[in-house]
Amino acid sequence: MADVVVLGAGVSGHTAALHLSRLLPKGNTVTVVSPNADWNWIPSNIWVGVGKMPAKSVLFPLEPVYRKKRIRFLQAAATAIWPQGDDQSGRPSVDVVHTGSGRQGETERVGYDYLINATGPQLRFHMTSGLGPDEGHTVSVCTASHAVEAAEQLKATIERLKAGEPQTLVVGMGHGTCTCEGAAFEYVFNVDHELREAGVRDRAQLVYLTNEAALGDFGVDGMTFEERGFQTTSELWTGSLFRERGVEAILGAHVNAVEEGVIRYETLDGEGHTLDFDFAMLLPPFGGVGLTAYDRGGADITEELFAPSGFMKVDADYTPKPYEEWRAEDWPKTYQAVGYDNIWAVGIAFAPPHQISRPRTSANGTLIAPAPPRTGMPSGVMGKTAALSIVDRIKHGSAAPNHEASMADMGAACVASAGAGLRTGSAAAMTMMPVVPDYSRYPTGRDLKDTRGEIGLGGHWVKLMLHHLFLHKAKGRLGWQFIPE
Ligand SMILES: Cc1cc2nc3c(=O)[nH]c(=O)nc-3n(C[C@H](O)[C@H](O)[C@H](O)COP(=O)(O)OP(=O)(O)OC[C@H]3O[C@@H](n4cnc5c(N)ncnc54)[C@H](O)[C@@H]3O)c2cc1C
Repeated sequence: MADVVVLGAGVSGHTAALHLSRLLPKGNTVTVVSPNADWNWIPSNIWVGVGKMPAKSVLFPLEPVYRKKRIRFLQAAATAIWPQGDDQSGRPSVDVVHTGSGRQGETERVGYDYLINATGPQLRFHMTSGLGPDEGHTVSVCTASHAVEAAEQLKATIERLKAGEPQTLVVGMGHGTCTCEGAAFEYVFNVDHELREAGVRDRAQLVYLTNEAALGDFGVDGMTFEERGFQTTSELWTGSLFRERGVEAILGAHVNAVEEGVIRYETLDGEGHTLDFDFAMLLPPFGGVGLTAYDRGGADITEELFAPSGFMKVDADYTPKPYEEWRAEDWPKTYQAVGYDNIWAVGIAFAPPHQISRPRTSANGTLIAPAPPRTGMPSGVMGKTAALSIVDRIKHGSAAPNHEASMADMGAACVASAGAGLRTGSAAAMTMMPVVPDYSRYPTGRDLKDTRGEIGLGGHWVKLMLHHLFLHKAKGRLGWQFIPE
């Protein structure tokens, strides 16, 4: 009988926990450690962030779902891993600090036989001075509560526009190394849609400020689409969406600092610029959540398990190489941690081996390089893959082979809402296969049959359907396991 501990109850961790509870024979235990009481369907935070959806529609409490599925839930944050056990016991364990009411601040050492690290990103607002809703001057849509605040500020901006005051709204990336450009892309079009619905678009300047060197890069080095035998690029496709909506783009930008009403940034040519703003939603760079690791004697082995970014090292090829020499097969397949065959890191928590988008430095040497995205679909697939590997190990013994799911074989779909509304909504739907381009298999890096970009009302309905389907799945309701990740 084995104890499986999952750190994190987001897309990847929650998916892993549900499959573990479904597939593990009785007597084995599944414990989820996560600091928040609620599950958040993060992609729909975009609609919360423009006031089109209340926060309660993207959140639900985890405890009743876990109780029903016989999963033990510790509302707590993991702080340290003891993969060899401690000096008292040879049992691997994790230190956690409770965050739930009644146990806040209490610490506990939780033993495990198998561990999945699915702790997602640390939102590193602190890397840019003045960035973020807590200590800075910008809003965010990374969490439901951030999105509520963004909606309030957007509403106030629209009121000022209605009163005749011109306003500048900036949406984009708050640092040169950010990822998740798709989310900012989606938010800027939703803001455009809101401004049009309010009848104030003509008085608003709307700017997309990004670390991408070209529009349509999305941290994946862009895409090639084929339409009726003609090839086009995601740069052209995205550029036309921006032009049609009058959204100005500032490319290849690293934000140095945000002050009250002013963004200071540097572009790839090394020039420094300022941009005055009335409303700004800028995403933070992501890093690992800051877990540490110790050997049995208590010596710090964090560097063995984690990359400097704080993400966990897995079965990838991390050998430093020039960008041109990186290959699709460098990407991990099993997500098993380095040196420990009973630990996996999935979703955003694993350390990518290299950039997908070409990394660039400004003329001053500042790194301006979109980090590789790990979107929802691959994160869910990785969670399920790790769960299946653990189930096989428990059922068939330690020789059972790992399940595999490389981002170089896996597709991703991004349905970027461009405005909510059953009759007036729209969405830009992009699919790519695979996420990590493989030039040895495809001349354009990706399979043209499954790499597409389309925009229209149908995309909005797909996005809305996904919202309801994924909430149904995450609540573990009837037939949840048949809804793909
Ligand atoms: C605004 C926005 C919009 C997006 N839209 C899309 C979209 O349309 N399509 C798409 O595919 N992807 C989208 N994404 C990306 C998607 O949300 C991520 O790919 C996905 O959430 C990653 O899953 P994850 O499990 O790795 O991390 P998360 O879902 O972030 O989960 C991490 C979990 O770990 C927990 N945790 C944090 N610290 C600790 C700790 N110390 N100990 C234990 N637990 C911890 C967190 O509370 C959380 O439960 C969007 C992202 C954002 C920010």
